Amino acid sequence: MTAGVSRRSLLLTLGGVGLLAGCGDDHADWHAAGELPGDSRPGDEASPDVSDSATPLVVPPANPPTAGVCPAPQGVVQKQGGPQYVLPCHGTDIALTVDDGPDPRYTPKMLALLAQYGIRATFCMIGRSAAAHPDLVKRVLDGGHHIANHTFSHPLNIAKLSASAVRAEMAKATDAITKASGNGYRPTLFRSPGGAWSPTVLGQCGAEGLRALDWTVDPRDWSRPGVQHIVTTILTKTHPGSIILEHDGGGNREQTLTALGVVLPRLRDAGYTFAQP
Ligand SMILES: [Zn+2]
Repeated sequence: MTAGVSRRSLLLTLGGVGLLAGCGDDHADWHAAGELPGDSRPGDEASPDVSDSATPLVVPPANPPTAGVCPAPQGVVQKQGGPQYVLPCHGTDIALTVDDGPDPRYTPKMLALLAQYGIRATFCMIGRSAAAHPDLVKRVLDGGHHIANHTFSHPLNIAKLSASAVRAEMAKATDAITKASGNGYRPTLFRSPGGAWSPTVLGQCGAEGLRALDWTVDPRDWSRPGVQHIVTTILTKTHPGSIILEHDGGGNREQTLTALGVVLPRLRDAGYTFAQP
């Protein structure tokens, strides 16, 4: 555990140059705290670090998976020239994506929660963390989940990197995940840190044989906005085809796990099925 924390601190220190140079927002505070700022896009609603109070959780009903009520026009899963951001919107399918792991503190808890409800997710892993925790990579695959490439070092604005630097981030992460898997597994999806896309990033996805993957439902769980906020956001914004963004690494993810313990059975009982993007 101690070694893992030290490794992560080092990783963040090395990655901080781009962050401090490129961002004037709250990301710098998260960096100073030794955490990742998660994958929400700049400009998304922020309400960081609201402590959970003793107020009872109010759990709204999940939107039922009504045909035709979709986050995108029928059949459109990709913005023109951009990443996939919804599933084909013709049934009850939604997708759960879990970013920034693997993390020895939270990935095992996430796996236990998903197993409890029989849900398969897509873990968007940081290559450096996969290399540090190959046992967790194997456990994720043994659980029937998919793994997406989420870069090797989680650069804070990959859209500003050169093509060769982007390609190196992707190739090193694929190599790390494949090696850790022990069975030749190769990711086919790429989740860009912070949802930062550029023609260069999208072009390198193609060169590396990766499909670009975005999302539609983002409760900003990484900012610890409170369990209530995470629960309400997911249950009220999820429709057939939604891709939900959560995190199992990059900082304290207890709120995420508590919220998913409420949300996952609600979505399942409402009739949703969990699919891979
Ligand atoms: Zn991330």
